[in-house]
Amino acid sequence: MGRVKDKIAVVTGGALGIGRATCILLAKEGAKVAVTDIDEKDGRELAESIIADGGEAAYWKLDVSNEKQVEDTFRSVFNKWGRIDVLVNNAGISGTNEPTDKIEEKDWDKVMDVNVKGVFFCTKHVIPYLKLSGGGSIINLSSIYGIVGAADVPPYHASKGAVREMSKTDAMIYAKEHIRVNSVHPGYIWTPMVENHLKSQGLTLEEGKKLLDDLHPVGHVGDPDDIAYGILYLASDESRFVTGEELVIDGGYTAH
Ligand code: NAP
Repeated sequence: MGRVKDKIAVVTGGALGIGRATCILLAKEGAKVAVTDIDEKDGRELAESIIADGGEAAYWKLDVSNEKQVEDTFRSVFNKWGRIDVLVNNAGISGTNEPTDKIEEKDWDKVMDVNVKGVFFCTKHVIPYLKLSGGGSIINLSSIYGIVGAADVPPYHASKGAVREMSKTDAMIYAKEHIRVNSVHPGYIWTPMVENHLKSQGLTLEEGKKLLDDLHPVGHVGDPDDIAYGILYLASDESRFVTGEELVIDGGYTAH
């Protein structure tokens, strides 16, 4: 208990999946959590359930690809709680699953707008508040596919490679101001994103899960909590000497 006590944390895409598990864990460990997401119903319900469990949280409707909304949200979080210490850039979409020579420009841009520009906008607009706090931690959700390739979803993999490199660049730019920036690289984690991806392939969830389980040396996909615990470490002062780092949590996927 209390590993991020009194820190103010903003989580994007916080209503479901990895973001949801992160909001719950950060709140359990003492943070005040801004649950932000385009999904209003699940986002509000999550903030209410964190409060019902004795934590502190509030919901903001935020599309990370809209710079004005991003700017307004960080201002509003700061006005509510008086500081910001942690940003988890978690919102992401898998996007089109065509081979590269079949992808339309608009479908490429849609993925980049959320997965890359969203990280840029949120980082840009949180930095002034982290400076006011005397430092902070930014955690960017990349993927195993920011490290190795795979023969599907080309814009998604490109976007996650960009996030990996953006994290290192920002780590170096802001290191002297005590702002740490790290990326997290999950293997397959059982979330609505993965379930929807499998359904779009025409697979039943059982068939799809078996295929994904077999990709990981440990023999199974991960749970959102497996990633949330890594994010908690990077958000806490336990990782105060860690910046520009890649935290791979993948059941051994990238070990071979
Ligand atoms: P998820 O289950 O789809 O949850 C993502 C949440 O983000 C959803 O609530 C979604 O709302 C929201 N969202 C989508 N577009 C948004 C936008 N423009 N602005 C704000 N929120 C938005 O995804 P997840 O699997 O938890 O993934 C979270 C992050 O981890 C992503 O960056 C993903 O790329 C990364 N990751 C996931 C895996 C995995 O296996 N699950 C592996 C590697 C990396 P809607 O549901 O309404 O769209």
